[in-house]
Amino acid sequence: MTTVKKQFIAGVVCPSCGAQDTIQMYTIDEEQFRECVDCGFSDEMEKEPSLLGKPLATRVSPEEELKQEQARSDDVQIVHILDNSKLH
Ligand SMILES: [Zn+2]
Repeated sequence: MTTVKKQFIAGVVCPSCGAQDTIQMYTIDEEQFRECVDCGFSDEMEKEPSLLGKPLATRVSPEEELKQEQARSDDVQIVHILDNSKLH
């Protein structure tokens, strides 16, 4: 049997139960996994190891998202007007 070394990651919040400093990281067959000792949550880390220790951040702020929504509806209106002018 192989002994799996588990290492706590400081500052990481469990995505499942929200507890901090309960996440352990370990490697099996060169694939990284993380596991919450509090709630038992675990998943694979290999895809984005750079996210380790960083809080998840949303790329777009709600305000910017709203602007994008408005820009999109503007586009729709412009297209609509162009369509009408073609018809006439
Ligand atoms: Zn947890």
